[in-house]
Amino acid sequence: MRVLKFGLALATGIGVLVGLAPTNADLRAESAPLAVVATTGMIADAARQVGGDRVDVKALMGPGVDPHAYRQTRTDIAAMAGADLVLWHGLYLEAQMEDFLRELAESRNVVAVAETLPDTVLIGHDTYVDKYDPHVWMDPALWSDVVIAVRDALIDTHPEDRAVFEGNAARHLENIEALADYASDALGSVPTAGRVLLTAHDAFNYFGSAYGFEVIGIQGISTESEAGLNRIAELVDLLVDRQIGAVFVESSVSDRNIRALVEGAAARGHDVIVGGELFSDAMGTDGTYEGTYLGMIDHNTTTISRALGGDAPERGMNGRLSAGS
Ligand code: ZN
Repeated sequence: MRVLKFGLALATGIGVLVGLAPTNADLRAESAPLAVVATTGMIADAARQVGGDRVDVKALMGPGVDPHAYRQTRTDIAAMAGADLVLWHGLYLEAQMEDFLRELAESRNVVAVAETLPDTVLIGHDTYVDKYDPHVWMDPALWSDVVIAVRDALIDTHPEDRAVFEGNAARHLENIEALADYASDALGSVPTAGRVLLTAHDAFNYFGSAYGFEVIGIQGISTESEAGLNRIAELVDLLVDRQIGAVFVESSVSDRNIRALVEGAAARGHDVIVGGELFSDAMGTDGTYEGTYLGMIDHNTTTISRALGGDAPERGMNGRLSAGS
């Protein structure tokens, strides 16, 4: 039998909204799937992979949504209140939801899955001295441990399905291991001098650390300010000196900065291309391969490898990437 917790949040602001509502668990027959709410698409994907047909997963943040800025809506609150399990990332990724989720955890089944990682594998944060970089999904080895945390949270929530969750998790972990092997090969084929990843924001530090790439984020640079112009000049120097052939955009990147870099390098006789668009904090379109964790990282890996002179197949690890993706 599942242990049900409710009604304990009455004294809090959350309690007013969720404390009295019966959860799906109260209403559901034993055979119905668990109602799971996940904040990011990556966590929802892990819950679907591990939970299979034993879970009904809702992701609060869809493709293209910035988790650093996202704030829960009333619909989200209702979904979380009725869920058997709420999975969030933690490590201050959901900065605007942090207080809400920590308070909800006092009365509900809420797990911060990335906070199960030991401090020793985490990278410090440039912006916040006392916090860690939350972008751990960029390293498949770290993400495997998060998948295990998702599996354990599902088992704690519904121990009767332990065997199903363990079997599904083992299969998914094998796929992630194959992805990590593919990424090692594809990125290891990029000439050593060219292993520089210049992107829009600071999402790729774990990726760089895992695959030996120097990572530079250009977020926050304004070409209108002296500091911004100096920074652009500095990055142009780096592109020319290191003969870096490509820079990468994320959906939110400023075109102007990218153009300034490409033009600046061209003026110095060095051609730089925009190597493609990378998925940083959200996955691709729902229902596509790129809309899964495996497809997201396959896309990034393949795009980066090919743009920087590496040797990776156009359609990626298993031929499933969309053409021209
Ligand atoms: Zn980010």
